[in-house]
Amino acid sequence: MKFSFSLLLLLFSTASFSQVTFKWLGTSGFILSDQTTTLMFDPAMTHVPIYDFLPFMTVESDKPEVDFWMNKCGLKSLQATFVNHAHTDHVIDAPYVVKKFGGKLYGSSSVLNVGLGQGLTNLQVQKIKHGDSWKIGDFIIRPFRTPHAPHVLDIMLMDGHIEKPLPTPTSPWNYLVGETHSFLITHPKGSILFQAIGKIHDIDTLKGLKADVLLLTIANRKSSEDLIQNRVNPSQAKLIIPLHHDNFFIPMKRENGIDELWGIKASEFQEKLSLHAKQIKSSWPQYCQAISLF
Ligand SMILES: [Zn+2]
Repeated sequence: MKFSFSLLLLLFSTASFSQVTFKWLGTSGFILSDQTTTLMFDPAMTHVPIYDFLPFMTVESDKPEVDFWMNKCGLKSLQATFVNHAHTDHVIDAPYVVKKFGGKLYGSSSVLNVGLGQGLTNLQVQKIKHGDSWKIGDFIIRPFRTPHAPHVLDIMLMDGHIEKPLPTPTSPWNYLVGETHSFLITHPKGSILFQAIGKIHDIDTLKGLKADVLLLTIANRKSSEDLIQNRVNPSQAKLIIPLHHDNFFIPMKRENGIDELWGIKASEFQEKLSLHAKQIKSSWPQYCQAISLF
């Protein structure tokens, strides 16, 4: 009798929560869903070519491009969109997806000013900070402050904060970084650590965090060894999905295949993983390919 009751409990605990799936949207954008609740992070399917950084050029969300990818990913509705920082390659499509698919936009004051500049109301935006905890459906999302590293040498492009609502079209140089967050996402089925910045800061707020799945930005990393020693192995993750290795200056390939970001050396990172983190499975999905996390 005791055995069957435990079995019943076990069956209930595994059956009562649906699987959590991940779909990559390019750069560090992705969708997480447990069938009931769907979250989006860093939607930036609109890629901004380098010539758009010339003086007098302006950018805005490319709605047909976003529609194509949301249709390909089978997205029906959203309960929340989180943005890690306010550079174009993380935030540019966030206001549009919130308007079209629902939920609120969560981010720094700079991220919120991108949303407000494109017509989101105060009820559709939510400021987040290090130490917060947000429960959305069965997901709990906790932001951690992880400062953006300089792009070249000590030079940080588009530094500062967006102080007021930013209407579009506008120069990509107006997308100032603001506060930068990584996220620990927990669900009754398992946990996910999304490290949004490739270079680990001297003050490592993610130190000691463990998760079943590691979503790891590898752009602008100090070295593959640094990420593996200080994040991949300590996280004790069973699965790692590297992010931010595709080229966000050219349009996303609509058929299979990824254009690699110049100088990213994704295969070198994978080789080092195979050498120094043999116990961890890695996955390099195509855009919108569903990966079952747990
Ligand atoms: Zn950035």
